[in-house]
Amino acid sequence: MRSVKQALADILASTPIIDTEIITLYQALGRILSDDTFALLTHPEHDISAMDGYAVRKDDVGTLPCRLEVIEEIPAGTLPVKALNAGQASRIFTGAALPPGANQVVLQEDVDVTGEGEIRVRGVEAKSHVRLRGLDFQKGGLCRKKGTMLAPADIGLLAAANVAEVAVYRRPRVAILSTGSELVRPGETPGPGQIVSSNGVMISALVAQSGGIPLDIGPVPDDEAAMIDAAAAFDAADICVTIGGASVGKYDLVQSVLSTQGLNVGFWKIAMRPGKPLIFGDFKGAPFFGLPGNPVSAFVCALLFLKPALQQMGGRSPSALVAEHTLKTLQPLPANGKRETYLRAAQSIEKPGWVDILPIQDSAMLSALAAADCLVVRPANAAAAQVGDGVSVLSLK
Ligand code: AMP
Ligand code: MG
Repeated sequence: MRSVKQALADILASTPIIDTEIITLYQALGRILSDDTFALLTHPEHDISAMDGYAVRKDDVGTLPCRLEVIEEIPAGTLPVKALNAGQASRIFTGAALPPGANQVVLQEDVDVTGEGEIRVRGVEAKSHVRLRGLDFQKGGLCRKKGTMLAPADIGLLAAANVAEVAVYRRPRVAILSTGSELVRPGETPGPGQIVSSNGVMISALVAQSGGIPLDIGPVPDDEAAMIDAAAAFDAADICVTIGGASVGKYDLVQSVLSTQGLNVGFWKIAMRPGKPLIFGDFKGAPFFGLPGNPVSAFVCALLFLKPALQQMGGRSPSALVAEHTLKTLQPLPANGKRETYLRAAQSIEKPGWVDILPIQDSAMLSALAAADCLVVRPANAAAAQVGDGVSVLSLK
């Protein structure tokens, strides 16, 4: 059986990066740039005023008060036509280009209008209130790097640089096929012995959160013909996922049936708990994940393997799998066996730095998973831990 680390390495090594598409900035939130993206213009294009006031020559306002002739008015959106000579000023507004010769803006509050075309300057601030050409960025300069996940401010910057469309990685389509004759869709009334399928919608949500487009097919009954029928939808997918039917029970048909349809199994079973019976391979060339049916197992396997593969395919760096921090356990823990173990846990609010291992660790029970904000990772063969011992924690938030 592979370790979690080895399994992930093998999965990432056989997961390709997807093709790209051009989208508008309005569609770009959360998308990943597939190219270095360069500014199409310089910003600001000119030396511009940062205030409403008067453009002047510093030399003219060295001794105050002083009188200046106003030769022009320059609102934003127009360019000056007159250069300043000694003793001259131009009325100017925020964002407008400075006239040649000007290198200082005096605030309108520091000026008296003393007549038609004439002002008296009472004060000059130490700041010039001039935004120099190219202060923000230069035409042809790198605006945002390949691999950047676009946030609102990135989108604003690209817009300012007049990049209205960007090349991004396509969002991988992930087809999710839940299997089990006992399953009904959420909202339907379960018949005798039936349960509501939680996995399809839960893993769809995880896929969407990880940058993919989920395609929830199923649930399908444990029946060869039904499964073959449903698996046709895999042809439209970049990643194929089944849930349930991955063990060795009489009704576990995923491997036997799908192998006739284009599934090649790369490996099966990982030394972990929950989630041992994970299948990884390819379905007609697309990465294939056969997740176990118990909801917590399905979730943990999707988090540890499907999510990083999906991120890598979509041009992101796979999120860290390694537990990033250590907390003190509020409960004693027994020595661990050969399988790496992921325990549902919650960071203590009353005792910062401590973690509460939740009481129900059954892999079929979702309330503890929903209450958890982290997983405590117990390495293979870990020694027993006492209350207060440090344990490794993988955040879920
Ligand atoms: P299996 O791997 O098919 O043997 O399923 C293991 C357990 O997970 C069984 O108790 C199933 O009823 C349950 N299970 C399988 N698929 C789902 C699902 N989509 N939603 C909720 N429980 C499921
Ligand atoms: Mg089943």
